[in-house]
Amino acid sequence: MKRDYYEILGIDKNASQEEIKKAYRRLAKKYHPDINLDKKEKGEKFKEISEAYEILADPDKRSNYDRFGHAAVQDAFGRGGFSWGDFTHFGDIEDLFGRDFFGGGIFDIFFGPKKERYRPNRGADLRYDLDIALEDAAFGTTKEVEISRMVTCDSCDGSGARPGGLKSCSDCNGTGQISQSKRTAFGMFTSITTCGRCRGEGKTIEAICSDCNGDGKFRRIRKISVKIPPGVDTGSRLRIVGEGEAGTRGGSAGDLYIIVDVKPHEIFKREGNDVICEIPISFTQAALGAEVEVPTLKGKTKIKIPPSTQTGTLFSLKGMGIPHLNRRGNGDQHVKVVVKTPTNLSKEQKELLLKLEEDEKSTGFWKR
Ligand SMILES: [Zn+2]
Ligand SMILES: [Zn+2]
Repeated sequence: MKRDYYEILGIDKNASQEEIKKAYRRLAKKYHPDINLDKKEKGEKFKEISEAYEILADPDKRSNYDRFGHAAVQDAFGRGGFSWGDFTHFGDIEDLFGRDFFGGGIFDIFFGPKKERYRPNRGADLRYDLDIALEDAAFGTTKEVEISRMVTCDSCDGSGARPGGLKSCSDCNGTGQISQSKRTAFGMFTSITTCGRCRGEGKTIEAICSDCNGDGKFRRIRKISVKIPPGVDTGSRLRIVGEGEAGTRGGSAGDLYIIVDVKPHEIFKREGNDVICEIPISFTQAALGAEVEVPTLKGKTKIKIPPSTQTGTLFSLKGMGIPHLNRRGNGDQHVKVVVKTPTNLSKEQKELLLKLEEDEKSTGFWKR
């Protein structure tokens, strides 16, 4: 957050031009870059108050700033913001400190113009949402995914130029930077900006690579084999280094992030690393006890239902759930038995049930 210019100068919004000048002179005395003391920190302070003064001392710039804030005045400065080359009030400094003290380009020595360097850019990261089945989440799997991404053109090695088609930029003589010097009463001020013609690369393309049309990269669909470890869950993020977009000017490629979404299963419900399923048992199995078959993630197994089992009873199969992703062991499987009421009874079956009901009245076997 850029500080408010009025705040920097410690004045209020309707300060007169005279008050602005006084405030600046007072602060300039306090913060002038004394050669022996904290020159860096004081230098920064000095620059800050000078920037505020540059804007507020000019009624037009001030009124723009009052209406639109910092955004309205930044255009007046170069790309790196305010620099001493933008300052027009050296007369005020001269009045305060005399000419000699600031002579000889002392500002350049202390605050040197910021050099903008044209750096290689890392490619963007990519995201891929991958749906997998619960079994895949439990046991791990390998999936092939198709990614559309920018890759570096091999023919030109990303330069975009045909071999030998790269020429040194004539605007900046191959340096990628344009420097402009301005003479002031206090010496030369040099501002350095990135060359617009070659965008800082120092080279321009005279003959473009026909494979990539001069872009240096192109979009390709690529198949990538993704290893899914056992134990992943919805929202798990797998990072595949270097499989994102190609970088520019020799920058490294971005990464590919696989975001896992585990689809609901028709039998199993997942809760953490436990799985839960329901199995129907008959009224007689519940009453008499039985051995019943239950599905597990690894196939079928059998469990023993003891006599007099009530509907809703849970049986646990230790370690039959999903493996923990970052530690040893597995979750459990819980089996909930649901006692089914018989339907479509035959005449004989109805008679048997009626007899059972008669019995119940005399012995009360429903009660424990
Ligand atoms: Zn190319
Ligand atoms: Zn250039």
